[in-house]
Amino acid sequence: MKKLTAEWDSPLFIQVQAQFETAAKKLCLDENLFYRLRVPDKALIVSVPFRNDDGSIRVVPGYRVQHNDVLGPYKGGVRYHPLVNLGEVAALAMLMTWKCALVNLPLGGAKGGIQIDPGLLSRGELQRMTRRYTSEIVNFIGPDVDIPAPDMGTNEQVMAWIMDTYSQLKGYAIPEIVTGKPVIIGGSLGRKEATGRGVVYCLMEAAKLKGFKLDEHARVAVQGFGNVGSAAVKKLEKIGAKVVAVSDVHSGVYNPRGLSYRALTDWVNQHRRLEGFPEAETVSNEELACLDAEILIPAATEGTITPQIAKRLKCKVLAEGANGPTTLEADRIIEERGDIFVIPDVLANAGGVVVSYFEWVQDLQNYFWNEKEINKKLFEIMSTAFQAVHAFAVEHKVGMRLAALMTGIRKVSQAMLTRGFYP
Ligand code: GLU
Repeated sequence: MKKLTAEWDSPLFIQVQAQFETAAKKLCLDENLFYRLRVPDKALIVSVPFRNDDGSIRVVPGYRVQHNDVLGPYKGGVRYHPLVNLGEVAALAMLMTWKCALVNLPLGGAKGGIQIDPGLLSRGELQRMTRRYTSEIVNFIGPDVDIPAPDMGTNEQVMAWIMDTYSQLKGYAIPEIVTGKPVIIGGSLGRKEATGRGVVYCLMEAAKLKGFKLDEHARVAVQGFGNVGSAAVKKLEKIGAKVVAVSDVHSGVYNPRGLSYRALTDWVNQHRRLEGFPEAETVSNEELACLDAEILIPAATEGTITPQIAKRLKCKVLAEGANGPTTLEADRIIEERGDIFVIPDVLANAGGVVVSYFEWVQDLQNYFWNEKEINKKLFEIMSTAFQAVHAFAVEHKVGMRLAALMTGIRKVSQAMLTRGFYP
């Protein structure tokens, strides 16, 4: 097999490449499609200059990668993180293609990012950087072309600035250029909680399938208390499961009697981190992953479930809220162990892009739905996708991860063959 060139090198790209290769082989994927799909359609690298509060100017690298748009416009988040690079963004763009296809959205896969720690910027700096990044990629994105959304390190406010900059440059309001924006400017109800909710909807399906209840006997450990982790905790508490541990980048808190969502969020709002949360034991992120709990939700970042951790996992269900949390080797170990039911990232965290799709549709129609309707539609899509992936896994005697990837890749490749080759 021809080796790829160095620009794509990054641990996550190597990981998604290997997963794609395995799935493609199993599907006996047409060789021409294989070589086309294992790299993105287009990648844009920009230098983003912006003014610091002290008047000096800083230049940071920014990216937007479009992997495939055979099913519809490119779609995917924008990540602000110090370790963002072309390879990582390309890997995440590829995962978006499989994810959108898997849940039957008429969308393709993309991702963007800026190599920066947004926590070190003032609000003014964050805004100036976001606006300049948007203007640098303005001709690469578009409501019918490529629609950004939030990811790690970005939020509703960042989306509002992207929407405003894009609209200013075009001369009129274009809410449908981004999803995950505030409701007041055309965002969708339920978008903020959608990814976390989707994870829990998958767990509800897993519970039905495996014959357990999501009650006080279902102990859950959640790694990451950002947008995904916190929404998952909220929903889990609502349906009666017992969240015993949560963590942020610094450390985790553990209480076998259960943690309260309200108390956790109040604490984080006041102290900006979980550390010191009363009535709980402090644990490290590694310890949290290996706690005695039936369900583990890694909702922090990629690569947190390492081979060492995989050997020590005590959970029965691993629901991947983050993208790429389980390394290749760890995945092999889990597969060999055979005692953990994996709900892979492309399925478990698809709720975010599903409600992003709803937001885009509402913006295009200028007609907005209520939250009940949105959550109902989200549940239908997530449970249907879960059941389809499980049925595929059983029929083809493969694990849930491979089944999810194969389902997505098969759909994309069928669409490509049907559309035919240009010119
Ligand atoms: N960043 C999210 C993801 O990885 C959401 C993308 C979107 O809504 O377009 O799925």
